[in-house]
Amino acid sequence: MRKSQIESGMIYAVNGADRVVVPSLVISSTLWDRAFENGRATFQPSPPGARWAASIDWDAGSRRGILVVLPRPGRRRAPDEVIPELEALAKSTPVLDVPHYESVVAELQAKVLAPFVLDVIRDSRIIMPWGDYVTGEGLHPCPGENCSARVALNATDKLRAHANDSGAPCIRSNTLLTEEERTSE
Ligand SMILES: [Zn+2]
Repeated sequence: MRKSQIESGMIYAVNGADRVVVPSLVISSTLWDRAFENGRATFQPSPPGARWAASIDWDAGSRRGILVVLPRPGRRRAPDEVIPELEALAKSTPVLDVPHYESVVAELQAKVLAPFVLDVIRDSRIIMPWGDYVTGEGLHPCPGENCSARVALNATDKLRAHANDSGAPCIRSNTLLTEEERTSE
C-alpha cells in the first residue's frame, strides 16, 4: 500500500519474516532507524530529510523504516489471539512525539514482551489494513497457472510476490493485472 496511507496506531497485515502474513501495530508512520548498541536494539527518529529508500548498515542489523510491534517470527499464534493484545497496546501507548521519543520508546521496550517484538520494517512489507485483509477486500484472485492465491497489490498496483499452489514463486508475482483480469473477478 502507499506510504501516505499508513497511519500510526492502526493494525496492518504485514509480511512476517517467515513469509507468513501477521497482524502488526504501526507505532509511528514516520521514518525510524533501528541500530544495535551492546547487543541491544535502539530506536530513534531518522535524521531530518532521510529518504525511504536510503539503506543504512543492514549487515550490522541497522534498518530504516516503519516502527511496528509484531509477533516474533516462528511463534505462530492465531490472529484472534494476537489482535486484542495489539489493540490493548495501541490504546495504552502514549503519542510518540519526536522531541520526547526516548521515554516513549523505553516504555514500549519495557511493555512489548514476547511473543511480540518492537521492530523497524520496510514499508513494502505492509500489505493493507488488517480488517480489509481478513475480509478479503482488496485481494485479487491470481490469474496465474496453477495458482489459486488471493493476492494484494503493491504500491505500484502490481501483484505482490507470492507462491503458487506448488509452493514455487508464482510467475505472476510483481506483474500488473490486465483490464480483463481485473474485471473478470
Ligand atoms: Zn499467482
